[in-house]
Formats: sequence, C-alpha cells, structure tokens
Amino acid sequence: MQEDISDVECLLFPVDPLARAFPHEWKVSLFRRRAKRDADGVFRYECPICKHKFDHLSLEYLHGDHIWPYSLCGETTRENFRVICGSCNSAKSNYIDSVIRSALGSGDFRRMVFDFLKTLENAGNPLMDHRLEDFIGARPEGSPKGQ
Ligand SMILES: [Zn+2]
Repeated sequence: MQEDISDVECLLFPVDPLARAFPHEWKVSLFRRRAKRDADGVFRYECPICKHKFDHLSLEYLHGDHIWPYSLCGETTRENFRVICGSCNSAKSNYIDSVIRSALGSGDFRRMVFDFLKTLENAGNPLMDHRLEDFIGARPEGSPKGQ
C-alpha cells in the first residue's frame, strides 16, 4: 500500500480546490513517503506513468499533477493529486490540449468526458461520484446504464 499525503499535510498546507496548483509541500511530502531505497542506497521516487526513478536532486523536475485534468474541471484536492515527472507532465498537457481543442465545438466533448469518466469508474476510481455525473449530465444514447 502506497502512502499518500496525510490529514496533517492537508491541515498545514490547505489549498483552495479551485487553485491552479498544488502546494509545493504536498509534492515534497509525497516524494518522502513514496521514495524507496535502491540497491545503491539512494532513495528514489518512481513516476507513476513512465516508471522512471528520480532522486531528491530531481525534485524540481517532478510536478504536482491533477489526475483528472484541471482543464476539465478537475479540482485541486488530495484525491486528485499525484506527482509525475516533467516529461510526462508536458506530454499529458500537450495531448489534452490538442484533444480538447479538436473536441470543443464538435459536439463530441460530452462524449469524450463521459468515456473518460466511465474508464475511471470501471477502474474503481473514487473520482466517479455524483458531482461528475452532474457534470456530464445524462448518459449518452446507447451507453449501458451505470452501476
Ligand atoms: Zn514520467
């Protein structure tokens, strides 16, 4: 079981759910909790996307990231927080930006969001709750009923 940031960090370093960025302290804290000692004795954090490992000297290269994208109304909360490397961070935002640009105005945006949420729900992700159901509204035609 991986250690997440704790109630203590949330109290000490509170953040507005609508803020654009996570507190720097959350990143440092998650790094400390999850970094594992390698054979050479150095503690390293593994990026959850690319699986590359980073020691504390690379801390500035690691970024607090919204699991559910901020650009898609993802909130800045501990449930939506993870730490990924700079490379994955830019790859992700480039991908999302281009997808959103092409989807906006095409009428496919709601479908795209729905499919994304469904994927999260099927993966057992707790982000799929009534607020997101409200956000996507009625299920697209032909979609299986929820639960
Ligand atoms: Zn990465």
